[in-house]
Amino acid sequence: MRETELDVVLTEKWGEGLVAVEAGETLELDARLESVHEGILVTGEVHSTYSGVCGRCLIDIAAPVEVEFQELFAYPGGEANDFEVQDDHVDLETLVRDAIVLSLPFQPVCRPDCPGLDPATGERLADSPGAASQEPVDSRWAALAELAAEPAEEPGETGQNPQNS
Ligand SMILES: [Zn+2]
Repeated sequence: MRETELDVVLTEKWGEGLVAVEAGETLELDARLESVHEGILVTGEVHSTYSGVCGRCLIDIAAPVEVEFQELFAYPGGEANDFEVQDDHVDLETLVRDAIVLSLPFQPVCRPDCPGLDPATGERLADSPGAASQEPVDSRWAALAELAAEPAEEPGETGQNPQNS
């Protein structure tokens, strides 16, 4: 059994969604390699940082990503395996990349209750407190809103001002 720690700097971006682990980001890898009958069992975890945009309000976000992985790398010559020991080495790249990419959030948010963008103005609702309560008015109620918005009638405009009678 052998334990190894590796820091790897990504040379290409991992992930194609709203967030990804960008090229230049460091992967901190802890792995344990165990010799078993069929091959080498690799168990480990990897830490890094993903970045991208919030799926609701499009602000830039970044957050840690932490994934565990385990895979048997079989000795060559047996049944077909996804992962094999090659020239006394195990190549962890595909394994670690798949683990990371699959763990990236499909709908990343800057915070769990991100209110998103104002449908009318396109502004970030989180930047303008109170705006979130201005729900778009159902058109069936729009006439009532107009009535409510009319100023109260001033005395004198109605022709029924007591001073004139
Ligand atoms: Zn957001």
